[in-house]
Amino acid sequence: MKSGIMLALGALFSLSAAAQEVTLTRLECGNGPNDPRRFSDAFAYTETSMPFTFSCYVIKHDADVMVWDTGYLPGSAPNATNKPLVDLLKQINVDPDQVKYVGISHFHADHTGQLVPLKNATLLIGKNDWDGINANPPMGGANVKGFSEWISEKRKVEPLTADKDVFGDGTVWVLRAPGHTPGHSMLLVRLKEKGPVVLVGDAAHFRENYDHERVPGFNFDRAQTIASIQRIKQIEKNIKATVIIQHDPRDIGKLPAFPAAAK
Ligand SMILES: [Zn+2]
Repeated sequence: MKSGIMLALGALFSLSAAAQEVTLTRLECGNGPNDPRRFSDAFAYTETSMPFTFSCYVIKHDADVMVWDTGYLPGSAPNATNKPLVDLLKQINVDPDQVKYVGISHFHADHTGQLVPLKNATLLIGKNDWDGINANPPMGGANVKGFSEWISEKRKVEPLTADKDVFGDGTVWVLRAPGHTPGHSMLLVRLKEKGPVVLVGDAAHFRENYDHERVPGFNFDRAQTIASIQRIKQIEKNIKATVIIQHDPRDIGKLPAFPAAAK
């Protein structure tokens, strides 16, 4: 009898493990050319214009939803999207009120322009970026306006001082990758079919920045930037991760085209 119960319990646990599904979808959050010469402080780029994109992502973890980076506020910049994040979420059957976590790579406006509609989401942000937003005066480049609801404590925020296993089961990690900004983070999503995927935030803006460890002159810390790129390269090698440079249009094809999701 007892062993029957144990068997039933065992079956329940394996069922719940098998039922757990994680998917990753890329959302187009703007595009337009950029001058790559700004992205190497050692004058490595000679081109004056390269295609550039802005990526947002949705992670579905069973019934829970997380958004990673939110793009510019539509209409706020020439390269901003004209399709609001909220509309894109609805196309993949996500109610913005249902979003449980919004993780951001860093505090710049091209990643934090559409936080406002995610009113029930806990904000996951590197503590050094959070401190930069709340400093007086705020740190240069911090999109303070985008965070107003969290600054006034109407919404939940979790300033991260270490890597975070978001759902507690090892499938989704916010990883520290400082350098571009002091609290810059990246996201690791471990998918069953596709395998591990790293969304690098702005640890590198173009593939050449990643391959050749090129550092933009406007980054917060040069040595930290290179150390973060080296961390990504080790992750790529150790767990055979797909590395996605979020701003590089050449990496868009590494995930299925919207509205499809990688599994
Ligand atoms: Zn950016």
